[in-house]
Amino acid sequence: MSDELRDLYQEIILDHNRRPRNFGALPGANRHAEGHNPLCGDRIQVHLHVDGGRVQGISFEGAGCAISTASASLMTEALRGKTVDEAHALFHGFHELVTRGGGDPADLGKLAVFTGVREFPIRVKCATLAWHTLEAALEQKDQPISTE
Ligand code: ZN
Repeated sequence: MSDELRDLYQEIILDHNRRPRNFGALPGANRHAEGHNPLCGDRIQVHLHVDGGRVQGISFEGAGCAISTASASLMTEALRGKTVDEAHALFHGFHELVTRGGGDPADLGKLAVFTGVREFPIRVKCATLAWHTLEAALEQKDQPISTE
């Protein structure tokens, strides 16, 4: 990755941490899940409004480090309007990107900003917390999930 690209990615992450998108409660939400990353102390709740097999609305709440907050924010932007199948596919693509560096980052759009996270294993859990919580919400698990 070039220095310019790394700087751009860093800037997008910082921007989403400073001004998280889709942050707060979600009126009409019909699926919820809570996630916790004890290694870092990140906590998140994901709210979904799923109707007709599609993510009609999505928001998140909680508090965590810059990576976890930016990841949740970018995730909500990526998923709004997607089908549940597309949401699962994005989860798997994102997970591959930050754990193995596999897949084509171009398929992930802005989510590619987390490409560099793979070099910092402890940060992978911060970056994937929102996504694991999303999966729990899609599957309507009642138990809070933990990255441990
Ligand atoms: Zn974190």
